[in-house]
Amino acid sequence: MTGAGTATTDAQAQAERVRAGDRRSLARAITWIESTRDDHQALAQEILEALVAETGRAARIGITGPPGVGKSTFIESLGLALIERGHRLAVLAVDPSSPVTGGSILGDKTRMEQLSVDERVFIRPSPSGGALGGVAHRTREAMLLCEAAGFDVVIVETVGIGQSEVAVRSLVDTFLVLLQPGSGDELQGIKKGALELADLLVVNKADGEQKAIAERTRGEHEMALQLRRPSSKAWTPQVLTVSSVERTGIDEVWEAVQAHREALGQSGELEERRRIQARQWMWTLVGESLERIFRAHPEVAGQIPRWERAVEAQEATPAAAARALLEAFRSS
Ligand code: GDP
Repeated sequence: MTGAGTATTDAQAQAERVRAGDRRSLARAITWIESTRDDHQALAQEILEALVAETGRAARIGITGPPGVGKSTFIESLGLALIERGHRLAVLAVDPSSPVTGGSILGDKTRMEQLSVDERVFIRPSPSGGALGGVAHRTREAMLLCEAAGFDVVIVETVGIGQSEVAVRSLVDTFLVLLQPGSGDELQGIKKGALELADLLVVNKADGEQKAIAERTRGEHEMALQLRRPSSKAWTPQVLTVSSVERTGIDEVWEAVQAHREALGQSGELEERRRIQARQWMWTLVGESLERIFRAHPEVAGQIPRWERAVEAQEATPAAAARALLEAFRSS
């Protein structure tokens, strides 16, 4: 058998095992997606293609919030409520701060203690892979594999700092921002932009002494929302309070997620959102591939460092540098 033939057989067998819900095969397939090796990438793409009909079925939920707001505690509580209702849950943690091999804020195995040992739950940290496009890239494909493996709720978690929440928002149906009680936007450590993307705002730690403060924070955010033009015709963002430790308000959050999905589903916005995401994704991949071809091109590759330096030193405009590089690419 040829090498290619073997790869195809492997891919088909692996896809079959993922489809059957085998968690180890799922984990391995995701590892191939994250790999920079060409043979792994080819295998991963073949598996994805074999499973494409099984994707798209999950409720896709993005969760963001500043460090320490209680994301893992909240996901643990929500996750336990979900599996009690018969759901199967995948949690993909996108960590914008960690390089592929480095330490990770979100990848720590001790987070979500109960969920991480449950058969009905799949938890996976997702390395950032450097470039931001890379975050969404790997996570999107990991999410599709989780769907094919029968996980009907996929949570994509990210720290609400930097740009990663925008990338995550472009992957999910419902975007939830977790907030601290008693602090204004500027103290939350999250960009205003993230709040504007939110479908649901959830004030955590509404327990003990902080309960009243959390309620007040909720009121403040409700007021702020009224001043904002809603991004959806079918849905007005809601603000809720929860205690992830005492596990109160968790059912209400799930009901709100479902209400959001229902509202968007009925208006056609859910389909539209996913259509736009899929189309954008295609163009992202085209762009990435073109850039790779471009950088590997013998005539162009040698000129890149010089133009990068010229742009950095403001000796050339980025537009002029881009034009010169494209010209070198076309003319050889
Ligand atoms: P993450 O960094 O956003 O994942 O936050 P963690 O889930 O690790 O929580 C940070 C700290 O907040 C921990 O000490 C938690 O015990 C605490 N915490 C999380 N949720 C709650 C809550 O609902 N109430 C209270 N009082 N503390 C909480």
